[in-house]
Amino acid sequence: MKGVLGRSALRGLLPSLRVPDSRWLMRPNSGGSSWTQERTLVALKPDGIQRRLVGAVIQRFERRGFKLVEMKMLQAPESILAEHYQDLQRKPFYPALIIYMSSGPIVAMVWEGYNVVQASRAMIGHTDSTEAASGTIRGDFSIHISRNIIHASNSVEGAQREIQLWFQSSELVNWAEESSHSSSYPA
Ligand code: UDP
Ligand code: MG
Repeated sequence: MKGVLGRSALRGLLPSLRVPDSRWLMRPNSGGSSWTQERTLVALKPDGIQRRLVGAVIQRFERRGFKLVEMKMLQAPESILAEHYQDLQRKPFYPALIIYMSSGPIVAMVWEGYNVVQASRAMIGHTDSTEAASGTIRGDFSIHISRNIIHASNSVEGAQREIQLWFQSSELVNWAEESSHSSSYPA
């Protein structure tokens, strides 16, 4: 059976099927819609700080195209760690995890961008460093599950909860990209 529309009718319809502006596809953040504003919590753990990996990690997220919205170095209070890892409290490794996370300062960051929660999980790699693929942060910089360098939220809901836990809403910065600042020289 023939289609309902003939070729000429289809041709007449095609101009109305407009391809989105390519700039819009490349820079979804500039659209301003809420789905582009996904945020996640990423934290360099104490071994990441000791091993001077803060810059390397930030560089990976910036190169990928994500936007740094907040960052601070702090000695994690045990009360916050207990809430952060509340789902793991019955695990045998929990006491060692809290000691590890309290063993030095951490760097907590909020990153923003399209699909940033899922993308950052892929970027950090498998929880167990021995399983983490090369090219991932854990796969490139760590060898053991108990010293795996970095944390990233594992769901959009988890990210919202963790960002609220680690940052006051007044601390979160909303900065817009300004073309006048995209060069190292004054305009
Ligand atoms: N962890 C550990 N031993 C384990 C499992 C987890 O020391 O057998 C630690 C490790 O630092 C991990 C953290 O507990 O990153 C949180 O575990 P989770 O399963 O949430 O992994 P993640 O979300 O960090 O990949
Ligand atoms: Mg987790």
